[in-house]
Amino acid sequence: MEKKKNDQSIIYIIDTSAVLSGKPLPVDQHHCLTVEEIADEFSPGGSSWRMFQYLIEKGLNIHRPSSEAKKQVNQVVKKMGETHRLSKADRSVLALAFEIKTEKKEKAIILTDDYSIQNIASILHISTQSISQKGITKTFKWIRRCRGCGRVLSQDETICPICGSTAKFVVDKKTKKTKK
Ligand SMILES: [Zn+2]
Repeated sequence: MEKKKNDQSIIYIIDTSAVLSGKPLPVDQHHCLTVEEIADEFSPGGSSWRMFQYLIEKGLNIHRPSSEAKKQVNQVVKKMGETHRLSKADRSVLALAFEIKTEKKEKAIILTDDYSIQNIASILHISTQSISQKGITKTFKWIRRCRGCGRVLSQDETICPICGSTAKFVVDKKTKKTKK
């Protein structure tokens, strides 16, 4: 099938959740990319793994983001407290989209149902499209809070220095803002 002219500049980046959704992905109509780390997220021979192989046969290409793009994405991920929620593949997907947008000046859209990916993408001004869920409407930051006394801890503290209780992750309400 011939590609429509106005679609040629859009590049879809496919993440783990998009493959796991089992929903049809536009690999035969659009330029679709993913990252090599994603292959490690499926158990070989399983249904998601077979879906992934099928997508590659259909035209899904694997690209490697630059280390500079990875570095910049990791800084934002750390700042927003998302380090523990994003796998190596997730961060690589974000870095690839970021690189395409900033260096190649092309429109990258991440196909994902992962709220943490959507959150970081929104901060980096990268478009996302949900597969099956509604998608986020706000950006947010995760903070560590003490389970005992409720004190807000730093991103590196896992134990409260005041009462010795463990930390839990909560959304910092001050950082919530409506996504444009
Ligand atoms: Zn405490």
